[in-house]
Amino acid sequence: MAICKMCGEEAQELVSARVQGKMRKVCEDCADRATEEEEVAKESESVVQGMMGFKGRRN
Ligand SMILES: [Zn+2]
Repeated sequence: MAICKMCGEEAQELVSARVQGKMRKVCEDCADRATEEEEVAKESESVVQGMMGFKGRRN
């Protein structure tokens, strides 16, 4: 048994996941969530950049 660093729950297996830029050993649930959050963060960053580029081109 291992303890997940994110939710504090016991997990049979911990996996490495990038959590806010750092590799952490977390349970699979938290790894999924962290991966999703990373993707959303990346996406919203590119959306903002895209909007700025779009505005720049129009003005
Ligand atoms: Zn967890």
